[in-house]
Amino acid sequence: MTRVYLDHNASAPLKPAVKAAMVQAMDLAGNPSSVHGFGRAVRRAVEEARAQVAALAGVRPVQTVFTGSGTEANNLALRGFPGRRVVTSAIEHDSVLEAVSGGARIPVDRNGVVDLAALDRRLADGDGPALVSLMLANNETGVIQPVAEAARIAHAHGALLHCDAVQAAGRLPVDLGALGADLLTLSAHKIGGPAGVGALILADGLELDALVRGGGQEKRRRAGTENVVGIAGFGTAARLAREELPGTVRLTALRDDLEARALAAVPGARVMGAGAPRVGNTSNLLLPGVAGETQVMALDLAGVAVSAGSACSSGKVKPSHVLAAMGEDTGDAACAIRVSLGWDSGGEAVERFVAAYAAMAARLARAPAA
Ligand code: PLP
Repeated sequence: MTRVYLDHNASAPLKPAVKAAMVQAMDLAGNPSSVHGFGRAVRRAVEEARAQVAALAGVRPVQTVFTGSGTEANNLALRGFPGRRVVTSAIEHDSVLEAVSGGARIPVDRNGVVDLAALDRRLADGDGPALVSLMLANNETGVIQPVAEAARIAHAHGALLHCDAVQAAGRLPVDLGALGADLLTLSAHKIGGPAGVGALILADGLELDALVRGGGQEKRRRAGTENVVGIAGFGTAARLAREELPGTVRLTALRDDLEARALAAVPGARVMGAGAPRVGNTSNLLLPGVAGETQVMALDLAGVAVSAGSACSSGKVKPSHVLAAMGEDTGDAACAIRVSLGWDSGGEAVERFVAAYAAMAARLARAPAA
C-alpha cells in the first residue's frame, strides 16, 4: 500500500531542488566567518540564501536573521524587546504563547479571526509600550488573520507588530512592508526546506536584544556558526515558494474538492473556520464524538497521514486551544483532524483520504442528532 502524506503543516517533504542545493553545500569546507578562500566561498552560499529569503519577505538581505527554527525566531522577536509588554492572539502557535509569561491574549470569533476592536481596547489601556504578535495563517485551521489592519492599530498606539508567517509562506504573499509588520517569522521546513532553520525578518533599522549570545554572527543578532547546509536549502525553498505562489490555486481546488466530498460522505462532520478566508492547503475537520487522536490512528492504518489538534512533543494530543478559543467545548475541541496538502499532493491523495475518512466515520462516529 502506498502511503499518502497530508501533513504538510507539520513538515513538508523536501523539494528535490532543495535537496540538490543542500548536497552541493555539503561539499563546501570551512566556516563562513573565516577570511580565507574556503570561508569566503561558504559565506557566498549563506549570503545567496539570505538574498533569496529576503526576497520572499520583500526586504533587503541585511534585514534577515537566520535562526535555528521558526520557534527560535518567534522567541527572538518576543523576547528581543524587554521594555515592551507582549500582546498576542489566543490562537497563536505555542512558540509564541510560551515565549513570554503573562502576555495578554486577544480573543477570536467563531471562525477563528482575531477581534481587532478588542486589540484596540487592550492597546489603549495605557500599560506602556507593547509588542503585538499576530500570525498570518493559523497552523490548525488555515484561517488568515487581518495582519495589516492589526499593524495599523498597533502603530497608532506606538506598538510594534510581529507576524508569525510560518504557515503563510508559500501560500500567501509574506511581504513585510505590505503587511505593515515590524518583524516576521519564517521556517524552512513548512515550504519544502529542511527542519532546523528559520529566519526573523526585521524592519529596516530595527534593533533587538539577541537571545543567543557569543560570537558576532548574524550582525550580533544571533550568535553561533551558521547552519550552512540548512540555510542553503532554505534559500532554494524560499525562491521556489515565491516562484510557485500562483500555483497554489491548484491546491485550493483540491482542498475544496476534498472538503465537499468529505462532508457529503460523513454526516455530522464540520469544517472549522469555513466562514473566514483561509489558506488553500489546509482543512480542519471536526467529527463530534470521535477523538482526533483516534481518527489519526484509524487513517494511518489506512495509509493516510494527517494530524490531530496540536501534537505536543510528548506525542500526546491535548484538546486544541485554537478550537477552544473559537468557542468549541473541550469535548469537541479534541475531535478534529487537520488535513494539509502541499507541493506533492494530487487528486489521488484526495480520493484516498475521502475513502479512508468515510470508512473510519462509518465505524466510529455516533449518528448525528435527528
Ligand atoms: N509557528 C507556526 C504557526 C507553526 O506552525 C510552527 C510549526 O509548527 C512554528 C511556528 C515553529 O516552527 P519550527 O518548527 O521551525 O520551530
